[in-house]
Amino acid sequence: MAVGFAESELTCRPESSTRKEPRAFIVVHRNKIVSHPSQKKLEFSADELEGLGKLNLSAEAEEYHHMYLGHDPSGVAYFAIDIGYGYNGDEKFHLHDVRSLMTECTSRVAISRAGLAVAYARWHSRTKFCSRCGTKTMPHKRGTRRICDNGHTQYPRTDPVAIVVVEHPEGHSLLLGRSQKIVNKNMLTCLSGFVDFGETVQQAAAREVKEESGILVDRVEMICSQPWPLGRGGNHEIMIGCYAIATTTDIFMDPEEMDVVRWVHFRDIKRALQEETTEFQIPPGYALANSLLTWWVEKKSFKL
Ligand SMILES: [Zn+2]
Repeated sequence: MAVGFAESELTCRPESSTRKEPRAFIVVHRNKIVSHPSQKKLEFSADELEGLGKLNLSAEAEEYHHMYLGHDPSGVAYFAIDIGYGYNGDEKFHLHDVRSLMTECTSRVAISRAGLAVAYARWHSRTKFCSRCGTKTMPHKRGTRRICDNGHTQYPRTDPVAIVVVEHPEGHSLLLGRSQKIVNKNMLTCLSGFVDFGETVQQAAAREVKEESGILVDRVEMICSQPWPLGRGGNHEIMIGCYAIATTTDIFMDPEEMDVVRWVHFRDIKRALQEETTEFQIPPGYALANSLLTWWVEKKSFKL
């Protein structure tokens, strides 16, 4: 199954990094990606970065202010640079929200790298102080860690989220909904939520479905997973896609959390995937919900 943000083709091998090797930079500004409009590419060479001005490309900056993302298959070392809030921008350059890039950019590799860069930049900006002793932290190991004066290392965090395709007991529909936090009021998607302490992914999936919709489910299967750099609250998540069959059909929605929860028929989901319906929209191709819905429609096409 093809999933989004999983094709950066970057592997970490910092032990072999030297400043003599070719380097590429992904520039982040206020959680957006900076591109050069004439080339529409999201990556800069060291020479191209000069055009941005006021950027420190010294060895010291590389150690303390650049965020190492990994090496590509040809041996180019990739770094993210956060040019921060002090930079007022330059009209020569464009800023891209990563969500917008999902529809504007066709390269899954470029999108995955852009998501990784923003996720690292956000993690650094939110980890200025040590979670153990409260003192200030500094970037460490080329920005892949942070460390405080007392030697406590902070590692990038990934929050696990279960997202569930819940099938109607008769097999013709799925349970879809929209939380209060989703801005697009035409959107319908799979129910999801964080895995709590002490839970398996399957238990978390069943609990979230019950809390948000009142629907009970039978055995939960894990189907797939994908990294999601644009998680709620700005954190990096790992989305774990699950499949379950409901054992009840009457919906008792939690109005505090959800705008709507309803059963949606196979044919309507298929039309939404093909963008033929205006009644509701489903998440774009880079969201795991889209992959799960596509998987279910293909699976059911032989039976319905
Ligand atoms: Zn500390």
